[in-house]
Amino acid sequence: MNDTTVINPTDVKLLASRTTGPVATPADEQYEALTSSWNLAYPQSPAVVVGAADADDVQAAVRFAAAADLPVAVLSTGHGTWGSTEQAVLINVRALDSVTIDPLARTATVGAGVEWQDVVSAAGVAGLAPVSGSALNVGVVGYTLGGGLSPVLGRAYGWAADHVLAFDIVTPDGQLRTVDPQSEPDLFWAVRGGKSAFGVVTSLTFSLMPVPRFFGGGLYVDAVHAEALLAEFRHLTALDDDRLTVSFAFLRMPAAPFVPEPLRGRVCAHLRFSFLGNAVEGQELVAPARALAPALIDTVCERPYTEYAAVHDDPVAPMPAYERTRLLAEFPEEAATALIEAAGAGVDTPVLVVEIRQLGGALSREPRFPSAVSHRDVAFSFWVGTVGAPGRSGAASPPLESLIDALKAWQHTGSALNFLGTTDPAATAEAYSPQTLDRLRQLKREFDPGNLFRVNHNLVPTTQER
Ligand SMILES: Cc1cc2nc3c(=O)[nH]c(=O)nc-3n(C[C@H](O)[C@H](O)[C@H](O)COP(=O)(O)OP(=O)(O)OC[C@H]3O[C@@H](n4cnc5c(N)ncnc54)[C@H](O)[C@@H]3O)c2cc1C
Repeated sequence: MNDTTVINPTDVKLLASRTTGPVATPADEQYEALTSSWNLAYPQSPAVVVGAADADDVQAAVRFAAAADLPVAVLSTGHGTWGSTEQAVLINVRALDSVTIDPLARTATVGAGVEWQDVVSAAGVAGLAPVSGSALNVGVVGYTLGGGLSPVLGRAYGWAADHVLAFDIVTPDGQLRTVDPQSEPDLFWAVRGGKSAFGVVTSLTFSLMPVPRFFGGGLYVDAVHAEALLAEFRHLTALDDDRLTVSFAFLRMPAAPFVPEPLRGRVCAHLRFSFLGNAVEGQELVAPARALAPALIDTVCERPYTEYAAVHDDPVAPMPAYERTRLLAEFPEEAATALIEAAGAGVDTPVLVVEIRQLGGALSREPRFPSAVSHRDVAFSFWVGTVGAPGRSGAASPPLESLIDALKAWQHTGSALNFLGTTDPAATAEAYSPQTLDRLRQLKREFDPGNLFRVNHNLVPTTQER
């Protein structure tokens, strides 16, 4: 907890008188609940937190922060990577939890606090699916503003940000604006990919895809079989079928009761498989991988889209997680060998998850309305993650970075914002092409010249960092 209250109690009372939702400082009982996050690695300690009940509360909080010259931070589920929130006005948007599905228009309109599981189940009733990420409890808005990479629908339909139709946002001047391609073209371009640099999105409308069912799941084998499985992974990616998406991971599973018995205490190789064609074709595509090694667990089958989280099987319970990422221009056989040498069976590393995701397909194509989402030409993403003591990113970083460097020879110059694992502005800059970064900074100077929204992936309004 932060015990240096930097805000005058009279000012806090004034802010509370302007909001419907709760306002709390470190001395208040509600502070802990309002600042809690899924990722326990980044404890939140803002000067004051506002539990926004509606967009008016968000406006009141942003105006208060601007008047007090304090930065604004936005908290939804807390799955992201965070810098220090000390001195910040934290706006907790979790109570903005409305979900409206329009089955005829095939759209969803959601509040800023909504998680993917809420949209997936509501849309599933109408046989529709959002371009959601690997985990059910990640926040829709944070994910989408960072691009939004879906392991099931991305290669067929593109980035989640490509499907945004409109949003409401409270900008640094305290205005609530409705943004669509016609009304505010610059903000419509910048916020889709620029994340929280331009304000607090209070509501988001996006298209849903006609995908009631798919064929997919995970195939777990002992990591001693990684060479053969990685060769098959490379073969499947080379098919370049937009309906098919695969990813590969080394998983160091703890010997803990919450881990399924066949995986407990093992180093596993995990093939994540999803296919949007029929189940017969899906079975044929996965058969060679199945024949390579005895499965420890095999969950690949035809299933409703509502079960898409079975593909990655991400952890649901809160944990202190640290991560790093790089994009890869290619993943040839030599890269697979380097990956096995760095993270395969028998290697002693504290890095628990080492993952290669296939990109390409529709992720590479420009959408109808261009956005700040960059590096669409990239073929693969490379991501590493581990758990460590909360607030100790310095200690967790060296093994993550040295593992990332194992594939340096195949790296692209860019990075993916949603998986960065750091709030370093230079790393944030790498998530964008030079032209996109210049335009984002120009718009940042226009909409947020004082850099009020500087907590998290900060777009510095000057051109110093790159
Ligand atoms: C287990 C796990 C699985 C993941 N899988 C995927 C995946 O498959 N694909 C993918 O693309 N990403 C994935 N991610 C990354 C995830 O999309 C980002 O961490 C995202 O930022 C999380 O948003 P959140 O709202 O859940 O988290 P938070 O930590 O609450 O928010 C993260 C940041 O998003 C911004 N933000 C959130 N809400 C708003 C808002 N209303 N207005 C403005 N800014 C806002 C803020 O900068 C905030 O600091 C995954 C992360 C985890 C931990």
